Amino acid sequence: MEKDIKISFHNYGFRSFITVNLCQECPRQDNKGCCGLYSPVFYPTDFAYWLDKKPELINFILNLPNITILNTSITVNSPPDGEGYRCPMHSLESGCLLAQKLRESICRYFVCPGLYWQDELKLSRWKDFFEQIFEHEITINNTIAAKMQSENLSLRVPEQRSACFEFMKKMVLELTAAMPEMFTTLPKHEEFWIRRELAFGKQWLL
Ligand code: SF4
Ligand code: SF4
Repeated sequence: MEKDIKISFHNYGFRSFITVNLCQECPRQDNKGCCGLYSPVFYPTDFAYWLDKKPELINFILNLPNITILNTSITVNSPPDGEGYRCPMHSLESGCLLAQKLRESICRYFVCPGLYWQDELKLSRWKDFFEQIFEHEITINNTIAAKMQSENLSLRVPEQRSACFEFMKKMVLELTAAMPEMFTTLPKHEEFWIRRELAFGKQWLL
């Protein structure tokens, strides 16, 4: 079955994201789609944004039952759900509990491979944009991780956590003060339609 699908690109600098209208009727037909196969990992750029916009998320994530805390990241491990898993931040009623800009980068950029949007010539500038932004964010997070290591700061130490989050916020502000040119060369929002052959259930690969 072929379907016309709307893909939308949202340019918010380091909090940019992609949406597709297909999610409302996800071909996986399991009420969780890609959120059933992923455990989100939050990094300094995410914590810095949370501290600014929704600081209560820090305690929320720290109090979730199954998290993995490393020096500068926190993974929210998805518990088993049916034949697969389900992200603890996913609700049956409304999908992800986090607003788009509060999500980590994979959750903001992921589009199921069956849409292979990157192959569309008309979308190539958005492909370049998201590839660059992804790399840029990794560089920022690695820079912060190295600096925190040199300062003997780690999220693994409960007494240091407040200081770690403040340190991350300060460094993200410094490292993103000069915004890359690519942020200004693309519009805030742009929508496109693509036609694709759909498969259903596990035939729709993730
Ligand atoms: S698998 Fe695709 S359609 Fe389904 S929720 Fe994820 S991105 Fe949306
Ligand atoms: S954080 Fe949200 S978008 Fe990411 S896997 Fe969990 S429910 Fe899905």
